Amino acid sequence: MLIPDIIIAIDGYSSTGKSSFARLIAKEFGFIYLDSGALYRGVTLFAVEHSLIDDKNEVDAETLVSMLPEADLHFETDSEGSKTYMGSRCIEKEIRSLDISRKVSPIATLPAIREFVDRKLRELGRKKRAVIDGRDIGSTVFPNAELKIFMTADPEIRAMRRMKEMEGKGEKVKFEDVLANVMERDYIDSHRKASPLTKAADAVELDNSYMTLDEQMVWIKELIADKFGDTDVKK
Ligand code: C5P
Repeated sequence: MLIPDIIIAIDGYSSTGKSSFARLIAKEFGFIYLDSGALYRGVTLFAVEHSLIDDKNEVDAETLVSMLPEADLHFETDSEGSKTYMGSRCIEKEIRSLDISRKVSPIATLPAIREFVDRKLRELGRKKRAVIDGRDIGSTVFPNAELKIFMTADPEIRAMRRMKEMEGKGEKVKFEDVLANVMERDYIDSHRKASPLTKAADAVELDNSYMTLDEQMVWIKELIADKFGDTDVKK
């Protein structure tokens, strides 16, 4: 499939299926996939393990920022796709727990942490042919991204998807707790001072409440064909 050297930025609310969609796009087009939320989650796991965040989500930001280079957060790709690592340790499963989900948004409000993650993403995406998902990718991290998607879906549908995902990984959770977490993260992400979740002016909105992944792929291929002209994506 012919597709130009572009950056595809996928932003939107929690649990809208950004990462499943982004992973599939990357696979289909041979792009790299960068999961910015996984970096914020990795920073959060590191903070928890070094006792730099307490039960009230108060963060010792200065110490955390100074120690982050030693966390060696990065992505490695195997046959199943891209996974998040802290040094030699795969942390893909741990960073998706409800405990980390509860702590990650307060960590992501800290400007110094955002700068750390932004720098990493810009470095990894410098050669383009990358699909990156998050909250501020099209608005702040890659404002010149050639294609920007903003994803939404009903909160209950998002909570149900998240719950199934967690149950599939063996974590027992209550629907109300997952819904509360989804809504709390929406609120924190949209109201924080540093790079709040916003739809970039040139982003195209996708409400996937009632869409399958296959339908979303058809949608994006048509969008790419319309935007970048006569590639073979419609065939
Ligand atoms: O995408 P995911 O739900 O894994 O992201 C975890 C959290 O990281 C979000 O709830 C949000 O608080 C934060 N985040 C962010 N900016 C991004 C990506 C994630 O603030 N670009």
